Amino acid sequence: MIETLTILGSTGSIGVQALDVAKLMGLDILALTSNVRTDILENQIREFHPKYAAVADVAKAAELKIKVADTDTEILAGGEGVLECAGLKADCVLNSLVGIAGLAPTLAAIEAGNNIALANKETMVAGGVLVNRLAKEKNISILPVDSEHSAIFQSLQGCADKKQVKKLILTASGGPFFGKKAHELENVTAEQALKHPNWSMGAKITIDSATMMNKGLEIIEAVRLFDMPEDKIEVLVHRQSIVHSMVEYTDNSVIAQLGVPDMRIPIQYALTYPDRFVSPVKELDLAEAATLTFSKPDNETFRCMDYCREALRKGGLYTAAVNAANEKANELFRHGRIKFGDIAKCVERALSFPADNENYNLDDILELDREIRMRTEADI
Ligand code: MG
Repeated sequence: MIETLTILGSTGSIGVQALDVAKLMGLDILALTSNVRTDILENQIREFHPKYAAVADVAKAAELKIKVADTDTEILAGGEGVLECAGLKADCVLNSLVGIAGLAPTLAAIEAGNNIALANKETMVAGGVLVNRLAKEKNISILPVDSEHSAIFQSLQGCADKKQVKKLILTASGGPFFGKKAHELENVTAEQALKHPNWSMGAKITIDSATMMNKGLEIIEAVRLFDMPEDKIEVLVHRQSIVHSMVEYTDNSVIAQLGVPDMRIPIQYALTYPDRFVSPVKELDLAEAATLTFSKPDNETFRCMDYCREALRKGGLYTAAVNAANEKANELFRHGRIKFGDIAKCVERALSFPADNENYNLDDILELDREIRMRTEADI
């Protein structure tokens, strides 16, 4: 059972819920980090008394330092401050940063010998090969927080030999635009895309759910977390978000994890694994849910999943490339600068960017990421 916890991105949706879980578990909070939301971070500092807190925005960090001068929390600033928090020795570092910004802190945390509870899927999408290599070298565990990957991880408990796994089945809610065709979606607004039917999440991932790029990123995440080939990962649309994902074994038994859609379940399991404890989350009432439906995804309308599969097949830095294009396109769409239908086009274009380098390091990934973002914006 862990005792000390650092949370990177503590003021976001996952971070806030992770602190909720940590409070119930009575964990010691070593460090918290935030990009800019210092009002929320100040409250967290006063409630959880971390030794350190970092704010990526340097000016905001300076303001916060004055505000919490009466506490014992040391305030760190900028990207280096976040990295410093990641590299402090803790029993676990929960990474709930959004986007590629989470990659370097994940590597810093592993370098320090910390186990990782990973909610930042872009870490595995852009740099999973580096992360896995370092995790092996440092002999640490990466425990998934993403609900689908937690479900797969839970369904793999008791699996004696990976050869007995036939396929992983990721479920997808289908997002707010399920059943719509591409021509109906060309002009939908960010406001419409931000209305997710089941999950309450941050803006970036909610838009990713609407394009189903989120599921594409999760296919890549599953390949990297569970060391499975891309063609053994299937996606099934399941509108109710009750079955969080499944594992099919060679004897055609399918093991699934079910629960109400509440991120505190996968967060808690990542922190208590291999144990389980009581949770404040609502009990699943299957009689109330009554009907669970499953269908094949519409890959014609939601093309991002296939682009992510292609990036995996191409190897090299292509998964980092599609991720970078998507992050930029997602942001441009939220700012009203491109149409909904343009997001997938931006992701597709990234596949023709030369990214064959197989022998890359962190700097190569970050450089490619900057280049693709620039081009994505220049091409609109
Ligand atoms: Mg997910």
